[in-house]
Amino acid sequence: MREVDEECRKLVRLLGEGGWLRYAIGGVAYGASAETIDARAVCLIRETLARHSGLADFAFAMQGLGSGAISNFGTQKQKQHYLPSVAQGSAVAAFAISEPEAGSDVAALQCAATKDGDSYLLNGEKTWISNGGIADFYIVFARTGEEPGGKGISAFIVDSDTAGLEIAERITVMAPHPLARLVFKNCRVPAAQRLGDSGQGFKIAMSTLDIFRSSVAAAALGFARRALLEALSRSTSRKMFGQVLADFQLTQAKLAKMATDIDSAALLTYRAAWLKDLGQPVTVEAAMAKMTATEIAQQAIDSAVQIFGALGVVSDHVVESLYREIRPLRIYEGATEVQQLIIARGLIKAHATKVKG
Ligand SMILES: Cc1cc2nc3c(=O)[nH]c(=O)nc-3n(C[C@H](O)[C@H](O)[C@H](O)COP(=O)(O)OP(=O)(O)OC[C@H]3O[C@@H](n4cnc5c(N)ncnc54)[C@H](O)[C@@H]3O)c2cc1C
Repeated sequence: MREVDEECRKLVRLLGEGGWLRYAIGGVAYGASAETIDARAVCLIRETLARHSGLADFAFAMQGLGSGAISNFGTQKQKQHYLPSVAQGSAVAAFAISEPEAGSDVAALQCAATKDGDSYLLNGEKTWISNGGIADFYIVFARTGEEPGGKGISAFIVDSDTAGLEIAERITVMAPHPLARLVFKNCRVPAAQRLGDSGQGFKIAMSTLDIFRSSVAAAALGFARRALLEALSRSTSRKMFGQVLADFQLTQAKLAKMATDIDSAALLTYRAAWLKDLGQPVTVEAAMAKMTATEIAQQAIDSAVQIFGALGVVSDHVVESLYREIRPLRIYEGATEVQQLIIARGLIKAHATKVKG
């Protein structure tokens, strides 16, 4: 675990030094490449990084997801304090919304923020928090209770050394990266650390996820393209039955399907990112991209493992790592089933509007 932590911190630093993280934040005055986060640039970066290293992609993505709410909803003071160090790679960011009893149904979250003078007292739990344990600050979503459900949630920037915030458990997963469960016990957070208005937290969370959802699709494309490259290389060199594996039409059908699926998912991914950059609503398009790219990447990587035979299941072989790397992407930032519901709801709503009009 310590090795992964160190590697992740090092990657964040290197990505900062190399100028990559300028694309993870918004606001030129704070070190960003542009005033608003460029969704297409984020996708291109994630696709490229994922092709080479799942952990590098993760390190980049979390700097963006963990600070996106500050880029988009922070005060000038909050931006000045946090964004330059995120872009330089000297501060590690995290996004904490999930709880043991609130994952897909995130509006059911229970972690409470109670107003107490000029501050809030946070009490509750967050789990599955990427960068948990190594982050310098967390964007925490907690219930302030203005209204039930999604309308009674606010967002806070919580520094990792705040008294009352404890890393209760480090979680190991199939594609290792820093992950933890956090516990808040009378954790006092100044009201000045609240992002946006009280009760606006759910909107802040969803609009941050809206920017980065298509980039999860881009990461899946990176993994899938690497799998295709490896499959081509192995199948054109592996001799069997007097020829090479790629000479068999059954193998060619696999390669053709992998390449076509990947390119169709790429079109959906970059359409969503392009619409986002144009300032158009992308909820449905980003959901289509995330669902399709992560699902086809899983299939493409599985085909690559099959082409490699026994070698494909050797621990830490490149296709075996890809097989593990891709799996969580079909679950986090909205599982495939959640994306299906988002797409269908969008279609039904658009249809109803057309019928009425
Ligand atoms: C590697 C990893 C990193 C993560 N990082 C973060 C992070 O940084 N910050 C954070 O806040 N959270 C993070 N998460 C949590 C993630 O967002 C949740 O895992 C996700 O929202 C699903 O919630 P859950 O795990 O509680 O599953 P549940 O909500 O229990 O869902 C279980 C399954 O039910 C199915 N399902 C869900 N809804 C429906 C439906 N309506 N109809 C039919 N089936 C459905 C899906 O198949 C889903 O996988 C991370 C998770 C993973 C795996």
